[in-house]
Amino acid sequence: MADGASAPANELVIVPEGMIPDILTREASFDAVEKVFAAMAAGEARNFPVVREAIGHEDALYGFKGGFDAVGGVLGLKAGGYWPHNLDRRGIINHQSTVFLFDPDTGRVKALVGGNYLTALRTAAASSVSIRHLARKDAKVLGMIGAGHQAKFQLRAAAETHAFEKVIGWNLHPEMLPGLAEVAREVGLPFEAVELPGMSEADVIITITSSFAPTLLADHVSPGTHLACMGTDTKGKQEVEAALLGRARVFCDEVAQSVSIGEAQHAVAEGLLSEGDVTQLGAVINGTHGGRGSDEEITLFDGTGVGLQDLAVADAIVKTAVAQGIATIVPL
Ligand code: NAD
Repeated sequence: MADGASAPANELVIVPEGMIPDILTREASFDAVEKVFAAMAAGEARNFPVVREAIGHEDALYGFKGGFDAVGGVLGLKAGGYWPHNLDRRGIINHQSTVFLFDPDTGRVKALVGGNYLTALRTAAASSVSIRHLARKDAKVLGMIGAGHQAKFQLRAAAETHAFEKVIGWNLHPEMLPGLAEVAREVGLPFEAVELPGMSEADVIITITSSFAPTLLADHVSPGTHLACMGTDTKGKQEVEAALLGRARVFCDEVAQSVSIGEAQHAVAEGLLSEGDVTQLGAVINGTHGGRGSDEEITLFDGTGVGLQDLAVADAIVKTAVAQGIATIVPL
C-alpha cells in the first residue's frame, strides 16, 4: 500500500426507506443542506448533469442526479423518478428513489439509502435555509401556496426555523386545505384560508405546487416579503408571475438549474432577468453576498432541487444509523 493511503472500508451500509423517518431529523437535514449550499457557492462541490428519461414502461420517468462534495467527501447519485400508477395499482407512492454513495478515494460503493422521505425533508430544508438567511427577522405571517404531500413538510420545517404567528393558505384544490390546517394546528399556529390577493398579508410565502401556469401575481406580494418557490423543477412548470422575479432580488440553489428548469426560466425568457442577476444562496451563507438589501426588498429563492442536497442528507443518515448501531452492514 502506498504511503498515506489507508485500507478502504470493506463494507456496504444499507439504510432502507422504512427506517429513515425514525433516524432523520429536520435539524440534521437543515444543517446538511446549508453546508452543501455553502460548499457549492465556494466551488468545492458540484452537481453533475441530470439524466431524466421516459422509459416506455408503466409511463415512468426515471433519472439520476449526482454530484461530488469535496469538503464533505461525499460522492454519489440519487436514482429513481415518478411511476404514476404505483398508488392505484400497488398501493405504494408514485415518487420512488434510492441514494447510492461511493468512496471518493476508491470509487467503491459505500452505502444504499432510501430516498423518498429524504427527498421531502431535503426539499423542506432548502426553503427553510432560505428563510433563515433571507426573510426579515420580524416576519410574522407565513403564506402557503399548495397543500399536497410536500407542502406539509414545508410548513413543519418553516415553523421550526422561524417564530411565525399565523399561517395563511391558498390551493387550487381547496378541499386539500384542511390537511394543511391540521399541520398548522400540530405546530401550534392558527390557520386561515385566503384568496390569492390575501397573500399580501404574508411576510414569507412558500409555493409548492405542480402548476404549469402562474397563480401568484406580482401584485399579490407586499414589499419586504421573502418567497421560496419550490414547486418548479421542470421546463414549463411555473408558479408565480415572471414580473415578480423582475421586481425581486433572486437567489437559487444552482444558477444553471434555476434559469433552465426553475422559476427563473420564464423571467429570463421574457427578458426580465438575466442569469447574472441570480445568486446562489450559498454565497449568502458564506458571507460573500450580503443577501437581503433592505426591509422593503422582495427576496425570492428559486429552489429547483439539486443532487448534492440528496447526497448530503443521505450521508448524515448513514453516519447516524452507523453511530446508533441500527444500519445493516454487509461485507463487500
Ligand atoms: P402533490 O401531487 O402531492 O401536490 C400537488 C399540489 O399542486 C397540490 O397542492 C395541488 O392542488 C397543486 N396543483 C396541482 N395542479 C395545479 C395547477 N394546475 N395549478 C396550481 N396548483 C396545482 O405533489 P407534491 O409531492 O406536493 O409536489 C409538489 C411540487 O413540488 C411538484 O411540482 C414536484 O415536482 C415539486 N418538487 C420539487 C422539489 C424541489 O426540490 N424543488 C422536490 C420535490 C418535489
